[in-house]
Formats: sequence, structure tokens, C-alpha cells
Amino acid sequence: MSNDESKASVKPVKAEKSAPQRAMEKLGLLRDIDLALHLPLRYEDETRITRIADARDGEPAQVEGVVTDSRIEFRPRRQLVVRLDDGSDELVLRFLHFYPSHQKALAVGKRLRVRGEPRGGFLGREMVHPAFKPVDEDTPLAAALTPVYPTSAQLPQAYLRKAVTSGLSRASLDELLPPAMVPRHLPTLKEALHFLHHPAPDVSLATLEDHSHPAWQRLKYEELLAQQLSQLQAQRERAALKAPALRARPGGLHEKLLAALPFALTKAQHRVAEEIAHDLARAQPMHRLLQGDVGSGKTVVAALAAAVAIDAGWQCALMAPTEILAEQHFRKLVGWLEPLGIGIAWLTGSRKGKARTQMVERVRSGEAQLVVGTHAVIQDDVQFAKLGLAIIDEQHRFGVQQRLELRRKLESAGGEALEPHLLMMSATPIPRTLAMTYFADLDVSTIDELPPGRSPIVTKVFADGKRDDVIARIRDEVERGRQVYWVCPLIEESEALDLRNATETHQQLVEALPGHQVGLLHGRMPAGEKAAVMGLFTGARMSVLVSTTVIEVGVDVPNASLMVIEHAERFGLSQLHQLRGRVGRGSVASVCVLLYTPPLSDTGKARLKAMVETTDGFEIARRDLDIRGPGEFMGSRQSGAPLLRFADLAEDEALLREARRVAPQLLDRHPAAARAHVARWLGGKAELLRA
Ligand code: ADP
Ligand code: MG
Repeated sequence: MSNDESKASVKPVKAEKSAPQRAMEKLGLLRDIDLALHLPLRYEDETRITRIADARDGEPAQVEGVVTDSRIEFRPRRQLVVRLDDGSDELVLRFLHFYPSHQKALAVGKRLRVRGEPRGGFLGREMVHPAFKPVDEDTPLAAALTPVYPTSAQLPQAYLRKAVTSGLSRASLDELLPPAMVPRHLPTLKEALHFLHHPAPDVSLATLEDHSHPAWQRLKYEELLAQQLSQLQAQRERAALKAPALRARPGGLHEKLLAALPFALTKAQHRVAEEIAHDLARAQPMHRLLQGDVGSGKTVVAALAAAVAIDAGWQCALMAPTEILAEQHFRKLVGWLEPLGIGIAWLTGSRKGKARTQMVERVRSGEAQLVVGTHAVIQDDVQFAKLGLAIIDEQHRFGVQQRLELRRKLESAGGEALEPHLLMMSATPIPRTLAMTYFADLDVSTIDELPPGRSPIVTKVFADGKRDDVIARIRDEVERGRQVYWVCPLIEESEALDLRNATETHQQLVEALPGHQVGLLHGRMPAGEKAAVMGLFTGARMSVLVSTTVIEVGVDVPNASLMVIEHAERFGLSQLHQLRGRVGRGSVASVCVLLYTPPLSDTGKARLKAMVETTDGFEIARRDLDIRGPGEFMGSRQSGAPLLRFADLAEDEALLREARRVAPQLLDRHPAAARAHVARWLGGKAELLRA
């Protein structure tokens, strides 16, 4: 009997869950604390009665009066029309949908409390479909504002309200943080939550809406503190780990590499190379992000780090997200490092059979000192003799799991409890506030300068109607011996459409540019063919390369001077920036043309505008964060880890700083409280946040 069957046969007969219960589960409202943290979207004021004469058109109001007339009218359609009088004035209540029970509740002589927005109607002022309830003269008013919660169609507001109120009363909201570790003007968590669910009627609604009220601040602070604590714990756990100390030897391989390079490092490259060397020399694993704009020269910095590791007698792995990029790194590194006697292996998904077995064997034996490849590098059968340094290029393209696996490659080999040093590289800089929250357990080195002699890229935006002009421009460029990229977008729903688009553009350019070689590159081509096309383009025998986004990352052809991006409105901002970075790598003046198909959405406009206005990767990242918000910005990295629910990094930098300041004190002086706090806020998700 299979596992499934055995489960089915002993499955207890449970009472069916009601629709609202299931809807609550879908919203993630499972535990009392979840309910307590489910905060209102807005509030209704049922604490006051407005005189009908004073109620203003279009403004929500609660009135109370007695029904003086109640009848069904048939014109223009069947409806229930009720007159309410409170002594100050009359109000018509109009119901287009109603049941006999409505008629009963709204009968002449009943006293009602009614909430809605009055409008001037044909017969005087009226409310259409107001909320109402029967009352006595002495029915008390609500003492607090009535919360309106985010909900779904299957979950009635009244049901949810009750559930939240009882969840709130049951949830354990003991104050975990010592008072000295909470900014003085903030209430306790319990006070804050009770207040936010049932605010006193005299509160300024504006401070609740813009979340500047101290009760909101308390929640944000709690949340930020939990994240800081979790990052800090991770940092300390890592500090307790051991890594091989890889010391750079005077006159060692890295110095030989420096001497052999055809260029001098920029100041920024020198600085980051030194930061990395400093980390490598320590017996704790490095956990460093090397960020630098496209074209800033990260690869050579990685090669220097590899040289240090190899010189110290250890292996280095370099993992890139695509075959094309891995191959390009491989070529470049072979050019730099093989002359120094370093053995380099090459592992990708397309390398199979005997060739692969041989490579894997060279990695296992340690004969391959540097291993370059794609995800293939972390396959189970790849065992390193002595992995000392793992480098991940374009790290944002990899998930948390893959990073963890690469780090594990040493344990599986050595037996000693050692971890390799980890260097991650990215051209998408992390904005400072994000770095402080999500990447607090990460040291960052930044290359903030481009190699000399680069000419700036000019970016132009055209509607697709200008296509012919753009093709004429391409002709000019290729006649002058320059090379051109034309990028077609990936159409996610349909790879076939995507391909057709690229194929048609390719055809069009082939016809428009007789005498020049125009190539096509797309994701579905066999790796060998891709490599052949790339080879022709890098070797300058091909003038124009039409491609889907497979060239997005890292490709380096300095003679390319024109980049055309078709349907630029479909790309994300950082993707556009990456693509643009394929040109402007040499000394020739370069142009990036963004073709779009109108109409443009607001965010589409904002993206293209940002591209025209700046070529600075940091500015681009900042604007990207503005346009998309942190949730999307973080994208794949988070793989299910929670983003901030309450805090807003753009607005709450001051609270974030405070949380950063307090987290180490809390962890040192009140470790149990720190643990409980992280558990309350992050539960099992803490692990993911740190990887
Ligand atoms: P990225 O940071 O985008 O990965 P690369 O490492 O591909 O950039 O470098 C871009 C180009 O600049 C390469 O052709 C590289 O050889 C060259 N390069 C790197 N550093 C320098 C330098 N200091 N001076 C001149 N050219 C450099
Ligand atoms: Mg690169």
C-alpha cells in the first residue's frame, strides 16, 4: 500500500470548514497572532450621530431618526423608498435590491441608525443602500471607530471583524522587549494593536491613514527589529564558522596576473580587490557582494580573487547564470590565467557524456584549480577536492538554494567543518535601505568608477513607427565597421510568438543590410549553435546580432556601438540597463535606441524616461525601487521569504536605523527576548531571509 492510500484510510472524519473559515485560511489568518496583526484598511465612524440637516453631500455620516413613510415604488424600477425624519430634516433611503425582511425592518414608526453618504436627489436628500440598524432611544453609540479589514468575497466583513476581535483578545501579546529598547514615545505592542483595531474616536484619521501614528510606528519598529535580529544572528553564526585562510603571497599568482593584464586596474578595482583579499586571509568564510555597474570590470577582480585562492593551494568555482556568459568568462579567464599555469575546467549543462566525466574527474582530483560553469557546477556528482572560494556572477539570477548548495560543496569534500569563501557579483546595486534590511548579513564592495576611455552612451526613445530610420542608422554603423545588437523581448506567454518576432526582425534586417552578416540568437537554439553565433559576433565577422534576451547579462564585445531594444516598454528597468550596458564598452561613441509600441502605461513611461535621463546604475536601481516597490524589486531572491508588511523602507529609514542600533544590544543582553521576538515575527521564515 502506498503512503497516500494509508493516509486516506485513516483520515479522521472532520467537520467541513465553513466558507468564511476557508477564506480566512486563504488570507493566511490561521493563528491568533495572524488575526491580531491583520490591520484595518480604514475605519468607519459610528461613534457620532450627525443631524440630517448637518450631513453634507458626499460625506459619510451616521444619522438616526424615525421612519415616517415606507413604500415600494415601480418607477423607474421596483424599489423600496423609505423616509426618515430626525426632527432637523428628512432623508430618503432608497433600496434597489431588497427582501421582505427589509420592508419589515424599515416599517413606519421604526427608529433606525443609518450610515451612508447623502446626496441631493429628486425628492430631496437621499442615501442609496445605506447600512442601517434598528435602535432604541438609548442604544449606546460605538465607543471606538469601527475597523474595516482587507477581506475577500467569501469572507463577510462582520464575520472577519468578530474573528479579529477574538483573535486579538486571545493572542499572547506580552511585551517581549525591555522598555529601554523601544523608542520612548511608542506604546506597547498590546496597546498599539488594541488601538489600531479600535481607535478612540478623537484620533486624527490622517495619522492612521499615513501610518505615522505612534501605534503604527510601534508595529513597524517591531517588524524591522525582528529582521535586524535575524540578520545579526546569521552574521554571528557565520562568524563561528571556519574557512581556509587564503593569504595573498607577495610575488604570488595575483601579482603575476596584475603584471600580465593589458590594462591597469582602476582605483575602485584596486580598493575592492583589497577588501576581498583581506576577507580571504581570514579563517571565517567571506560573504561579500561585489557590486559595480555594467562594464565596471568585475570579472578581473574575480580573477584576482581566484588567483589568491589558487596560489594558497585551494580550488575556485565561478558560476554564471547562462551558458553564454559562462563561456565568455571561461575564455577570458583562460586567456588571463592559463599562461600562469592554472588548470581550468569548464562545466555546463550541454557538456555531457565523456567530456563531462573527464571534467568532473579533473575537479575531483584537484587538477582543475578553477572551475567555470553554469548551474552544472553544483550538480550532485561534482565534488571538489578543495573548494576554497566560490564566486557567483549576476547573483540576483540565482536562488537562495543554489547559493547554499555551492557553499556546501566544500563540506561534502573535505570532512573538516569548513566552508568556502563566497563572493557574489551583481550589476544591480542594492539600494541602501534594502541593503540594511535584507542584506544586513552581507559585506558589500562597490566599484563606483568605470575604466577610463569609455564614451558615454546616448539613449533615444522612438515609437515603433520610426523603425526604418533606425534601420538606416544601423546601416551607417555597420558600414563604419561597428557592430549592432537588436534585442527582441521575451514574450512569456508564448515562446513561439517570441521566436517568430525575433525571426521576422532578423529577416527584415538581413534584407535591409545586404553584404553584412546578420545573425540570430535565441533561447531555444542548441548550445553549440549559440556558441557558434556568439563566436562570429565576438570575432567581429558578424555585424548585427538579433537576439532575444539571452544576451542580457555580461556579454562583452567592445566594438559594438549600437543597441536597439524592440518593445522596450515590456522590459523592466534593470533589465534595460543591463542590455544597454552591452554597448559603450570600448572607446567608440555608443547609442541605445529604445523602440516602443504605443500606448505607454505610466510605469512604462517612467522606465523609459529614467533610461534617457541617467546611465548611472545606482540611480537606475533607486528609480526601479520607486517604480516597483521593494516587493517586486527583490523578485526571485526572496523565493517565498516575507517582505516587510508594515514598515516602508522609503519612509521609515529613521526607525530602521534605530532597529539596527538596538538589535545587537538586545541580542547581547536579552538573548531569550531576542529569540522570542524573532519567532513571533518571522516564525520559520527566518532561515530563508538569511541565506
Ligand atoms: P562587468 O563589471 O560588467 O562584468 P567586465 O568585467 O565584463 O564588466 O569588464 C568590461 C570590460 O572592461 C572588459 O572588456 C574588461 O576586460 C575591461 N576592463 C576591466 N577593467 C578594466 C580597466 N581597469 N581598464 C580597462 N579595461 C578594463
Ligand atoms: Mg560581468
